[in-house]
Amino acid sequence: MNALVTGGAGFIGSNFVHWALEEDRYDEITTVDALTYAGTTANLEGTLEDDRHEFVEADIRDEDTMDELVADANVVFNFAAESHVDRSIEDASEFVSTNVDGTRVLLDAAVEHDIDRFVQISTDEVYGEILEGEFTEDDPLEPRNPYSATKASADLLVRSYYETHDLPIIITRSSNNFGPHQHAEKLIPKFITRSLAGKELPVYGDGSNVREWTYVVDNCRGIDLAAHEGEPGEVYNVGASAERTNLEVTEAILEATGGSEDQITFVEDRPGHDQRYALDTSKLEALGWEPTWSFEQGLEKTVNDLR
Ligand code: NAD
Repeated sequence: MNALVTGGAGFIGSNFVHWALEEDRYDEITTVDALTYAGTTANLEGTLEDDRHEFVEADIRDEDTMDELVADANVVFNFAAESHVDRSIEDASEFVSTNVDGTRVLLDAAVEHDIDRFVQISTDEVYGEILEGEFTEDDPLEPRNPYSATKASADLLVRSYYETHDLPIIITRSSNNFGPHQHAEKLIPKFITRSLAGKELPVYGDGSNVREWTYVVDNCRGIDLAAHEGEPGEVYNVGASAERTNLEVTEAILEATGGSEDQITFVEDRPGHDQRYALDTSKLEALGWEPTWSFEQGLEKTVNDLR
């Protein structure tokens, strides 16, 4: 079985490629990535010499190239996206173009070549915020920032190809990931590197926003399990239920890096900042998934990787 991994030079996609090669999950893996500011082949170091793996630099909006690449694949994992909320607030145009139209290009190629599975990598942010309880896969999509709105749009488009073209799709929605290869603009790697350098850690608002954190390898395992054991047309939440306020994450980072609480500064909140996300993951657990990394273990490893 051959897999096409889009956005595989980015954070989660590159972890997926490393994991899938280590586990020998596919005969061949082709990674395609446009190498935007967020992607680098350095994230794929150690996989590029592997005979089972090929890297192609291309944009998922390039219809001819995607048609050629999808033709050789049995399963497509679409990780490629513009992924940073703050950037989407500044300018949403690339988010709409890559996250929505790029997904459309891949879906059309997938229909054309009658592939076995189209796996869309989505996010808990499409549900919007939840102050109490947990989101199930049946909850409505109520995104509250341009990034999550484009991801929700892509989810709807993917689902429509299941209904109208019988394309066997799976959507996975995970909580916040952390671990190796995450871009330094994201909270955990940013705060670890700043803390190690003795710099200030700028916390949005009063730091009370709650996120669930999943070590990236657990998400990769969940995505692959849902791809093969999930029901076509279905959505699967992926999350390790490690709920922390942003302030708690900041304090845990300071402790793990030997920093001082004096480094914390509170800055103006992000507009439309969701207060809390939380996922019910029982549907994926019923397929046999459970997280293998605690937040503390994952954080310790991430700090050691960045030292
Ligand atoms: P990332 O920004 O680290 O990686 C995205 C990759 O996509 C980069 O390598 C980039 O070069 C590539 N890319 C961007 N536009 C492209 C285009 N037009 N054509 C080809 N490649 C392109 O993002 P990530 O954190 O690894 O997220 C991967 C996926 O997982 C995204 O779809 C994101 O929405 C989703 N997700 C992320 C998280 C998280 O916590 N990081 C949580 C839930 C879901």
